Amino acid sequence: MSADRGQVIPPGGTIGILGAGQLGRMTAMAAARLGYRVHSYCPEADSPAFQVSAASTIAAYDDAAALARFANAVDVVTFEFENIPSATTELLAARKPTRPKPDVLHVAQHRLREKDFLAAAKVPVTRYAEVRSAEALEQAVRDIGLPCVLKTAQFGYDGKGQVMIAREADIAAAWPRMGAGIGILEGFVDFTHEISVIVARGVDGMAATYTPVENQHRNHILEATIAPARLPAPILMRAEAIARHVADALDVVGLLAVEMFVTQAGEVLVNELAPRPHNSGHWTIDACLTSQFEQFVRAVCGLPLGSVEHHSDAVMKNLLGDEVKAWREILAEPGAKLHLYGKSEPRPGRKMGHVTRLSPRRN
Ligand code: AMP
Repeated sequence: MSADRGQVIPPGGTIGILGAGQLGRMTAMAAARLGYRVHSYCPEADSPAFQVSAASTIAAYDDAAALARFANAVDVVTFEFENIPSATTELLAARKPTRPKPDVLHVAQHRLREKDFLAAAKVPVTRYAEVRSAEALEQAVRDIGLPCVLKTAQFGYDGKGQVMIAREADIAAAWPRMGAGIGILEGFVDFTHEISVIVARGVDGMAATYTPVENQHRNHILEATIAPARLPAPILMRAEAIARHVADALDVVGLLAVEMFVTQAGEVLVNELAPRPHNSGHWTIDACLTSQFEQFVRAVCGLPLGSVEHHSDAVMKNLLGDEVKAWREILAEPGAKLHLYGKSEPRPGRKMGHVTRLSPRRN
């Protein structure tokens, strides 16, 4: 049973957010500007969003009593990361509007379900196969062809649980290296660009898409986003149309980030979905009339969506680990906007903040 009747949550209300990382933090800051309070829920006490939340719950995601108290204290529930048990969002959805709805999370938190959903919605994806054993992997490699990539179906992020299979000799080691559980084998995409499109979709089904952006990764972690993507207009239009179609098919209320590959032949293939604010949308804070975080708040509260126009071009660079120590130089740089997440320990690869460098809009 769902408590969602499409109701509007007016300013003054409380938005409950599962997860309290930097995405929750930046959402809470945008929510405050519109007169909302945020109640963050996360098992780890030292989480960036707690510093800027009106209320906090530190509890496990399967703590039924804590979840019930949280549901009572908020007007609408959303989440800022995917690895939340379905039982948790279902329990909350029975009590308070939960946006996006639990089904969306169920699809997006499992790579196989996600690819099956996309394929059924006639969205172009790379060849893929389900893999449940070392023997099945050998057969799947024969079907998909080399090179290919083996990924865990669940709980993989930033390249964790991913193994490249370039040659037949790599097959034997790949299954144990992947880790545990069910795998998905994907044909390796020889892409020219990795891009993403963030779609906002409201309670009324109205959608708005930010311009596609180009993403550069290092060690599977997003390093930089270039906005807009430097690709021909027909490819950008196709990417936006695909993203909008996926958001409609999933019936997302909130945000959906659609990560895609552009192939040598100019095809656009969807790689992954994230039904929440996304690292590749951070540039929108400084370069668009409405940031992805404000748009997220508007969508989950049933408000009209804002303009997705960008007034500037932008390059967003993540500050990983010790890179954050350059804060003084970045602050002294004209046209650079620094964002820090309030994390105390700059471990290697940890997202400590980002900097967005603006330039005049070209077209
Ligand atoms: P993912 O966790 O699926 O976003 O993958 C992390 C990164 O690995 C992507 O951003 C790509 O750079 C690379 N990657 C993932 N899947 C593939 C694929 N099927 N073909 C080529 N590169 C891939």
